[in-house]
Amino acid sequence: MEVFRDSILQLIKQTSTNLPPDVRRVMNRALELEQGARSAQALQVISMNIDMASDQEGPICQDTGWPTFEIKTPIGANQIVMKKEIREAIAEATRLGKLRTNSVDSITGKNSSDNLGPGTPTMHFEQWENADEIEVKLLLKGGGCENKNIQYSLPTELPHLGKAGRDLDGVRKCILHAVWQAQGQGCSAGAVGVCIGGDRTTGYQHAKEQLFRTLDDVNPHPELAKIENYVMQAANTLGIGTMGFGGGTTLIGCKIGVLNRLPASFFVSVAYDCWAFRRLGVVLDAQTGAIKRWLYRDEKEPNIATSSGGGFTLTGKEKILRAPLTEEQVRELQVGDVVLVSGEMYTGRDAVHAYLMKNEPPVNLQGSVLYHCGPVVLKNGNFKITAAGPTTSIREEPYQGEIIKRYGVRAVIGKGGMGAKTLAAMKDFGAVYLNAIGGAAQYYAKCIDEVLDVNLLEFGIPEAMWHLRVTDFPAIVTMDAHGNSLHADVETASASILAKLAEPVF
Ligand code: SF4
Repeated sequence: MEVFRDSILQLIKQTSTNLPPDVRRVMNRALELEQGARSAQALQVISMNIDMASDQEGPICQDTGWPTFEIKTPIGANQIVMKKEIREAIAEATRLGKLRTNSVDSITGKNSSDNLGPGTPTMHFEQWENADEIEVKLLLKGGGCENKNIQYSLPTELPHLGKAGRDLDGVRKCILHAVWQAQGQGCSAGAVGVCIGGDRTTGYQHAKEQLFRTLDDVNPHPELAKIENYVMQAANTLGIGTMGFGGGTTLIGCKIGVLNRLPASFFVSVAYDCWAFRRLGVVLDAQTGAIKRWLYRDEKEPNIATSSGGGFTLTGKEKILRAPLTEEQVRELQVGDVVLVSGEMYTGRDAVHAYLMKNEPPVNLQGSVLYHCGPVVLKNGNFKITAAGPTTSIREEPYQGEIIKRYGVRAVIGKGGMGAKTLAAMKDFGAVYLNAIGGAAQYYAKCIDEVLDVNLLEFGIPEAMWHLRVTDFPAIVTMDAHGNSLHADVETASASILAKLAEPVF
């Protein structure tokens, strides 16, 4: 097993940087379907980002996710050594910037800096009868979509859909509700892995395992295949679309598994994954650990390009913003405007927002652009940001309005939108929310000219406050300073479509 560790490192690098062909195919189809729609520009950025990531071997998304390994070994294979070498490969991939430092002590908040710690990475071993080969599959699933996972205990009352009973129609309603509640916050278009039954723990685990199926496979269980087909069609009528901008592609996959349950329990567990659906696998020689073949890849079509190379199509109507911004500038903006931001911006996410509620900012935020982003950063003398897409903004809802009010922030960039408190503060104090394209980490990293400084680095790389100079950073105004929110509009419109799907189908 002399090259087992290197093979795992290859698997991690490729999973983080190169989307599998089944995902590329559905994203290509989405781009064709959405031509002319608002989501089309988002999809253009996404498709260009997918190609940039694989060409440059850079992370597709700056949130390189929670690694889950599913491993099948011959009887008698040494799992202790394999675990040790998988952990070493994870640390090495982190050092090389293929994974972001993503493992945080839940008590102290300290980042382990190497993606190792209690619970990370997840490794599930199983034995198989094949004496010659080891199979290793890897899923990297980010926090934005992980936060949209949801578990239902039937019977239950669901918003807009009414009663979900202990039957397949109740299951149908739960899955539709799961897609609806994610809106754009999990970087739609997404895919759902579902488990019917199990207990609370095995239900979630089995739901996640469904994400190892290819998007185009057919469920061998005819009843489940029927629900999968139905959900794919119905969810795509909800009008949530890419990043929640509206449109006809909301769901790219629905994969349902089933476990037995206790007589008293009926759980439906849903694992939501984003368009940056990073899942690959390898079959290894059991003697040497060398890669014999890749899983999920199509040797006939090794590299399906997703973009035409055009990227973000400029229409000439874009608003040019140069930070720092004035109140007049931001009050001129309306929901739906496309902006190109140049100048200086600061990153800030959960730790920075909590800090700013109790402490003065380390920099002057008057007129500033605050970017909800936890980048991947390499240090070779100077800091270099290698992946820098937006993180889910709604987590900052308890703080954002107060921070706008206290420190004069004029624009917040993130993804998925924010709530009523932030919208009110934007109206009262003159600020806007700019929705960047979730997951487009390579694309946005290219808009960063320079890292000017960093503050609060003690919070770890993703949570620090990075001071950046950017050029032509594209985003869409989805909350303006006049009380309008595209997110609220899409949520309301999709809720009324959801309500029409309440009638029993199964
Ligand atoms: S694409 Fe969005 S949800 Fe997925 S990992 Fe990246 S930021 Fe998170």
